Amino acid sequence: MRRKLAAGNWKMNGTTAALSELEVLARSFPSPTVDVLICPPATLLHRAAEAVRDTGITVGGQDCHAATSGAHTGDISADMLVDAGAKAVILGHSERREDHDEQNEDVRAKARAAMDAGLKAIICVGESLEQREAANTLDIIGGQLSGSIPDQSTGENLIVAYEPIWAIGTGKVPTLNEIGEVHDFIRARLERRFGEGVGRSVRLLYGGSVKPSNATEIFGVSNVDGALVGGASLKATDFSAIVEALEKA
Ligand code: PEP
Repeated sequence: MRRKLAAGNWKMNGTTAALSELEVLARSFPSPTVDVLICPPATLLHRAAEAVRDTGITVGGQDCHAATSGAHTGDISADMLVDAGAKAVILGHSERREDHDEQNEDVRAKARAAMDAGLKAIICVGESLEQREAANTLDIIGGQLSGSIPDQSTGENLIVAYEPIWAIGTGKVPTLNEIGEVHDFIRARLERRFGEGVGRSVRLLYGGSVKPSNATEIFGVSNVDGALVGGASLKATDFSAIVEALEKA
């Protein structure tokens, strides 16, 4: 049985005042029946971890470096995330792939570092609009999966997020059939590579314009074990409604 997961990605949003949203969320879900994870900016991570201490909510990072330490100005290692209270880290988000030219092998190296440090790696994959229109979606996702996911992955340390680039922050969402097709494909690829036991235990999140109004139908799609939520995770009321929808799914 895969435990469902609602993960929020605050991206480069939020200063101290934003912690109050996290406190509201923690009060709303004293013992959530699904996993709830918030990934705030690194500057808030430690305080966010303190704010949710002893609640059912955990916090995570939005990226980490592949090395454990060294001369990498501005970067953050997986051990540093753990030290700040993180339990997970988002890796290979399309904004990182785009803004920082991250390639699959970079994501894989970061995921190895994250797993070695004891973090769950949420590895993001997703196609551009051009790739979807050219009917290349499954080829692209297949390449990202084999290139970005390390061999040491298990159902415990790996989560895969399917995030079509054209659906992120746009209000556009694939049809439920399109989401199901990609999630079934990812599941089959994981089972083929890691065997049925591990392949079936990895959680698959959908991400891209998930909102309270569409969460329930998305959570009804086969092999959708939760969501990675950007914009709607910034407001406790919106994110709470998504968590509630997942609890009922
Ligand atoms: C994201 O960036 O991971 C994301 C899914 O964003 P949004 O929910 O705002 O589309």
